[in-house]
Amino acid sequence: MNGIPKTEIGLASYVALRVDDWTPEHGCCAWIDASDRQCGRDALTESMLCTRHRNLALKRHEKHVKKTLKDQQQRIEYRAKMLPEWEAELAQVEADMERYGGAPTTDRAAYGGAAHPSIQRQQLRQLSDTNVQRMAKLSRRAQDLRDKIGAGQ
Ligand SMILES: [Zn+2]
Repeated sequence: MNGIPKTEIGLASYVALRVDDWTPEHGCCAWIDASDRQCGRDALTESMLCTRHRNLALKRHEKHVKKTLKDQQQRIEYRAKMLPEWEAELAQVEADMERYGGAPTTDRAAYGGAAHPSIQRQQLRQLSDTNVQRMAKLSRRAQDLRDKIGAGQ
């Protein structure tokens, strides 16, 4: 593949099965599905393809570029649309974390007043487990939202 520019190797990869073991003697490296063989016609100078297959490769490349740009545009539009929602949700999640993040309340009224100490301990533990799970969930969601908001900035 000496002397073949990278852009030409890139083009060839749109129509060839493999481009890594090519030599000029192979001729055009485009794969023809219908006859299950390589094209083999004389390749253009500094190219791995014949005129016909180079044009085909150019068309596929153009299509690929267009699709990439369109996908990119859609991602940008989606982000712009979602950003206010993500930011509002993050504010809510952070407020919840603030609210649940503290130590479980020791206010006995919060779990039924004068319970037996062992029941109280159990209730405290359950409250704490629930809190830990809730906090883990909230902090995962907050991270996810921060990633989304931060991407593209
Ligand atoms: Zn060809």
